[in-house]
Amino acid sequence: QEDAQYLVSLIRSIPNYPKDGILFRDFMPVFADAKALSILMDALEKALPVPVDQIDAIAGLEARGFLFGPAMAARLGKGFIAVRKAGKLPPPVKSASYSLEYGEATIEIESNAVHEGERILIVDDLIATGGSASAARDLVKACGGTVAGFSFVMELDGLNGVASLGDYPTSSLLTMP
Ligand code: IMP
Repeated sequence: QEDAQYLVSLIRSIPNYPKDGILFRDFMPVFADAKALSILMDALEKALPVPVDQIDAIAGLEARGFLFGPAMAARLGKGFIAVRKAGKLPPPVKSASYSLEYGEATIEIESNAVHEGERILIVDDLIATGGSASAARDLVKACGGTVAGFSFVMELDGLNGVASLGDYPTSSLLTMP
């Protein structure tokens, strides 16, 4: 509880960024602070939505899922798979388009990154509407993988993001309006 409060105390809230009407939660100070980073990594591991032996690899979303996804994977003894914005990965790729809290986006995954039947934990810093995480779920499935679950640092309340993912084990460390 104290630890959660410490993390929250470092998260900056920026009104009207990157667009009017959006309250942007900035996580970068959590990564910049040694104590907060250690709390974060321990908490992510402790809050895994499924037992570690039911996960074969971790897939992280660009860009902030890249900040802790590989560290989490290394801790758990798993590999890391990058889910990137369109146009950044060499072919062959699978693509999925979706609408974001602000704007439209297409994300991609290397078709060969996920092996048939692999159980993938999808991670990102924040879930708002769930559009990005749902697209990542579709990409993992399109490559023949199975979604083991989702881990988020933060969940925005009232947007039904987690419900939109479907019936998967999910954990989020913090909830904010
Ligand atoms: P969703 O697709 O609507 O769930 O939005 C989640 C995606 O947008 C994640 O990849 C987040 O990194 C990003 N995002 C949306 N809102 C915020 C925010 O307030 N702070 C940081 N990232 C955000």
